[in-house]
Amino acid sequence: MARMYYDADANLDLLAGKTIAIIGYGSQGHAHALNLKDSGMNVIVGLYPGSKSAIKAKESGLTVYAVEEAAKRADFIMVLLPDEVQKTVYKSEIEPHLTEGKVLAFAHGFNIHFAQVVPPSNIDVVMIAPKGPGHLVRRTYEQGEGVPALFAVFQDASGQARDRAMAYAKGIGGTRAGILETTFREETETDLFGEQVVLCGGLTALIKSGFETLVEAGYQPEVAYFECLHEVKLIVDLIVEGGLAKMRDSISNTAEYGDFTRGPRIVNDQTRAEMRKILYEIQTGQFAREFVLENQSGKPGFTAMRRREAEHPIEAVGKDLRAMFSWLKKA
Ligand code: NAD
Ligand code: MG
Ligand code: MG
Ligand code: MG
Ligand code: MG
Ligand code: MG
Repeated sequence: MARMYYDADANLDLLAGKTIAIIGYGSQGHAHALNLKDSGMNVIVGLYPGSKSAIKAKESGLTVYAVEEAAKRADFIMVLLPDEVQKTVYKSEIEPHLTEGKVLAFAHGFNIHFAQVVPPSNIDVVMIAPKGPGHLVRRTYEQGEGVPALFAVFQDASGQARDRAMAYAKGIGGTRAGILETTFREETETDLFGEQVVLCGGLTALIKSGFETLVEAGYQPEVAYFECLHEVKLIVDLIVEGGLAKMRDSISNTAEYGDFTRGPRIVNDQTRAEMRKILYEIQTGQFAREFVLENQSGKPGFTAMRRREAEHPIEAVGKDLRAMFSWLKKA
């Protein structure tokens, strides 16, 4: 098993007396900023003027500056902006303030690995990537626990980059749960693969196809929704709690037999070949190029796909049914 590092392996003193700037105050940003502050670190937040998040950050007792000012003041700069805006903000507001000895950090390797951000050689470049959404990073910290994280060093100018990254991971609560060392390449490629093939792309395609098949065959959309979407959570919760075995233990034998005999016909050799193709597109930078160009051209395809997906019948059925659930909950 890969080596995990815990609280005792990381030294928070390496960040004592340093100013840490959290750039962006969204899902990850608010969690990192508040956890570091509660860990006794000197935290400031960098946001664009007029950002709605600024009010929230100030209400939580944080000092907010324009991104440029925060980057100037900080010794450690964590970039928690949406991946597609990082390059522009970096170029105009962060890079001019990257003087020798500073640390530039990310929570996902995309912009460094695909060279959208090319930092100067006299600074440290690291990654601390919690393996969970920001609200969980915050909530677990408040409960005295943490979300496991990956960490990596891209560039070590100070000789302390790795220790500094581990210290940061400790400050956000990551070492309470355990942190695992990776590289920018491994994190970037596996993160993209996971979200495209399994978690987001694969799962939504599976749900929609199952729903469409039942509705086309004349079954009621509401029933199809329950069977193909709603129950996903019940199954996934069991898998996360105790692996595939726990889930299979708690479903009926009929369901379990159907799982073994029919599942491999849905994800078959052809599907696996497509998975390898998608991985290859990630590894060669083809996906990154497509995403970067899509954003540069004003997201025409992205916007059209968002609209089209929002109009899928499963969304209308879901909206009605979920309203019913919340009525049931209130009663
Ligand atoms: P987010 O969209 O939730 O938040 C982004 C923040 O940046 C917001 O506060 C927004 O107001 C601000 N912002 C947007 N444009 C800006 C601009 N031009 N100038 C200044 N501020 C701007 O983003 P997120 O989901 O927290 O993602 C941040 C990073 O963390 C990404 O690299 C992402 O890949 C990574 N990450 C996210 C998760 C997750 O679960 N959300 C998990 C691990 C890693
Ligand atoms: Mg989104
Ligand atoms: Mg991910
Ligand atoms: Mg991702
Ligand atoms: Mg059922
Ligand atoms: Mg069983």
